[in-house]
Amino acid sequence: MDYVLKTEALTKTYGRHKALDNFSMCIPPGAIYGLVGKNGAGKTTLLRLICGLQEATSGDYTLFGISSRKHEILGARKGMGAVIETPAIYLDMSATGNLKEQYRVLGIRSFDTIPQLLKMVGLENTGWKRAKNFSLGMRQRLGIAVALAGNPRFLVLDEPINGLDPQGIIEMRQLLLDLNQKYGITILVSSHNLDELSRLATHYGFINNGKMVKEISAKDLENSFRKSVRIEVTNGKALAAVLEQAGLPHKILAPNVSEVYSRVNISKLTSALEKYQCEVLSIKEQEENLESYYVNLIGGVSHE
Ligand code: ATP
Repeated sequence: MDYVLKTEALTKTYGRHKALDNFSMCIPPGAIYGLVGKNGAGKTTLLRLICGLQEATSGDYTLFGISSRKHEILGARKGMGAVIETPAIYLDMSATGNLKEQYRVLGIRSFDTIPQLLKMVGLENTGWKRAKNFSLGMRQRLGIAVALAGNPRFLVLDEPINGLDPQGIIEMRQLLLDLNQKYGITILVSSHNLDELSRLATHYGFINNGKMVKEISAKDLENSFRKSVRIEVTNGKALAAVLEQAGLPHKILAPNVSEVYSRVNISKLTSALEKYQCEVLSIKEQEENLESYYVNLIGGVSHE
């Protein structure tokens, strides 16, 4: 398969520090690829490298199958748009003014497609209002419109929902889904917000200390989530004894609460516990989620 982006042993060092260390990833066409990692993991370094803003120390990447070492990479990069760190917009200009400026930079002569582009990002009714009077979410969406000006097939976004209010987050989510599903744009998005990412991503790359720890599709990830049952009883020792006898893998979470990592036959369990005069107070099915998966994979807490 021709990946939209493939990095091979990409390494970037600053002095002795390896910000990216033999980093390899593959983004298939049509994906929303979530790049997950804590502060300082190397996300922005990776995005800056693939956008040509910095040079790798070693390793290579291909964009639409074209090696970064080839001259043709300049042409391939025209098929990609990016918003890295803060959106590249002029605050004293309106949304239309900003797009006209970008069209000029790209050598696009006709401004006819600007209204359509503004509609795509939900800024069609902003008129003469200057970007400095926009909400943060509107500025982010204008940044995305600027990145979309050259009609790219691949969009790279660094933390697009950082600092947005709940409404802004919902609008950004809808925009990214529309760009992907209606317009077929492949998206690489870095984010700290795992809950939000889990509503969008079709693929994940988990990065830590500049290394790719795990690359997995959302489907495979969901299939790998462990399912468990949390049981609260009046006598934790009795519960532990019954679970041991039944050979059910479990973990004691509190004196009277255990988590069982297997299917549980509730009526059998209840009658076994009755022999110890132990009552079941509650039973709750649980499923691992992206956040607990991440914590297990990388360690530590996932929200910085
Ligand atoms: P954040 O979520 O905080 O933006 P990140 O995952 O994007 O983090 P990077 O900005 O890529 O992380 O930084 C990776 C590592 O490289 C960090 O330890 C950072 O301090 C270091 N680093 C990044 N840029 C430079 C630079 N220009 N000079 C020296 N070290 C740098």
